[in-house]
Amino acid sequence: MSNRLRIGVIGGGIAGLTAAYRLCRYGHEVILWERQQQLGGQAAAFPLLGTALEYFYHHLFLSDREIVALIEELGIADRLVWLPSRVGFYARGRIYPLSSAIDVLRLGVVPVHDRLRIGLVTFYLQHVHDWHRFEEVTAEEWLRRWVGRRAFDRVWGAQLRAKFGPRASDVAMAWFWNKIYLRTKSRRSLFERERLGYILGSFNVLIDRLAEAIRESGGVLHSGSGAEVIERSGETWLVRDSSGGVTPVDVVVATLPSPLVAKLFPQLPEEYRAKLLGIVYQAAVTLLLQLRHPLSDIYWLNIGDPDLPYTGIIEHTNFIPPSYYRGRHLVYVSKYVEQSHPYLALRDEEVLEAALQHLPKVNPRFSADWVEDYWVFRERAAQPIVTLHYSRKIPEHRTPLPGVYVANTAQIYPEDRGTNYSVRLGNVVAALVQDDLTQGRTVPARPAERGRSGA
Ligand SMILES: Cc1cc2nc3c(=O)[nH]c(=O)nc-3n(C[C@H](O)[C@H](O)[C@H](O)COP(=O)(O)OP(=O)(O)OC[C@H]3O[C@@H](n4cnc5c(N)ncnc54)[C@H](O)[C@@H]3O)c2cc1C
Repeated sequence: MSNRLRIGVIGGGIAGLTAAYRLCRYGHEVILWERQQQLGGQAAAFPLLGTALEYFYHHLFLSDREIVALIEELGIADRLVWLPSRVGFYARGRIYPLSSAIDVLRLGVVPVHDRLRIGLVTFYLQHVHDWHRFEEVTAEEWLRRWVGRRAFDRVWGAQLRAKFGPRASDVAMAWFWNKIYLRTKSRRSLFERERLGYILGSFNVLIDRLAEAIRESGGVLHSGSGAEVIERSGETWLVRDSSGGVTPVDVVVATLPSPLVAKLFPQLPEEYRAKLLGIVYQAAVTLLLQLRHPLSDIYWLNIGDPDLPYTGIIEHTNFIPPSYYRGRHLVYVSKYVEQSHPYLALRDEEVLEAALQHLPKVNPRFSADWVEDYWVFRERAAQPIVTLHYSRKIPEHRTPLPGVYVANTAQIYPEDRGTNYSVRLGNVVAALVQDDLTQGRTVPARPAERGRSGA
């Protein structure tokens, strides 16, 4: 009997593309569906100023080993650069540099002894390897206890509120611990600026190369065609897509956000479905500005001030120089909100208008005529909210349905979601599929049962 499966991968983001690539490498017949016209999901980029730029700001950390390994394997390592980054913190109406340990000691938003406590707690968290006890306590509760109410409210609490809004108090300490723990690995010393990675030419270079490698191995990529419903028929799954096609496959790997997986498979047992539907995501709205002048000299500006109602301002051209973008300055004004938040429903002009009112707070010389062009991008499932005991809430990769697997950002833990971990998800789920085949838990359907694809 043939050991070659026909596998349907749903979602053409980094996780789906990596899974498809690996499954092709194992010798399977792979068909991928991506709802959008363009592959790449949240990491995709669009053509801009003679190159391309991500819809949502993107960089890598030195700890992002899985994606770096993939970049090397695909022969595009010459495009990967590591550059020092400049971080700032906006609070009480001004910008504080926050690129190194020394900067923490100068963080005038709190008195000196609070800064020392922040420095000590940061140092401590950087050296805690066993995070499991942080599952049982919220970030707010733990941090308030150890840095004090004032330091928490003005620094870390303010940042948590800027990202999670009313859900900030629910975020588990495990999520926060990881942010501090992993970031250390992007520094060679406490006193040095963090080095961040970027793929020159945008993450599309990786996405395009993955797509090319999949096609070279005989894989089929359907973009602009979403899976609508997936039903069981005998020993196969029938993928009904939005272009009217019905394709029988042996195995399905779903990489879309958890609630969409639940919708795709109405036949999922209640317990697993409840896990999928229990995952809550923050949405992100990002305004990208093309400016004549730099807004600041900071790449990554965290915001901890309710008077500047954004999560962060990311000036991409303070990381990758303006010379790559015909001398223009590119700034993302980012805001995370609940999926029901009215900001998600604003028209693009309204998002711009609001930002024009606020940006002079970052640079008093800023004026609307600096804006040459702008775009607004929205992502509903931008950030799964990691709550207490999250490890028990994560849906398993192997679902209770035969031959159906899930690999999505809600399963990344204790690390925070990111392209590196989507590569890892793709690698892990492909290995599971292969393992189940080798162990005889999955059996390829007979060719007659598969019929012809794309009916
Ligand atoms: C504002 C923002 C900033 C970020 N910054 C960084 C960063 O600096 N560094 C970093 O590493 N990561 C960053 N990330 C996170 C990173 O982009 C994501 O974690 C990663 O790209 C997720 O990949 P994925 O394949 O798991 O999911 P996605 O990219 O969400 O892919 C899922 C795909 O499924 C498709 N889909 C949905 N429904 C269907 C259907 N029915 N049929 C077919 N296809 C469907 C979607 O269109 C999508 O393309 C950022 C994300 C955001 C939102």
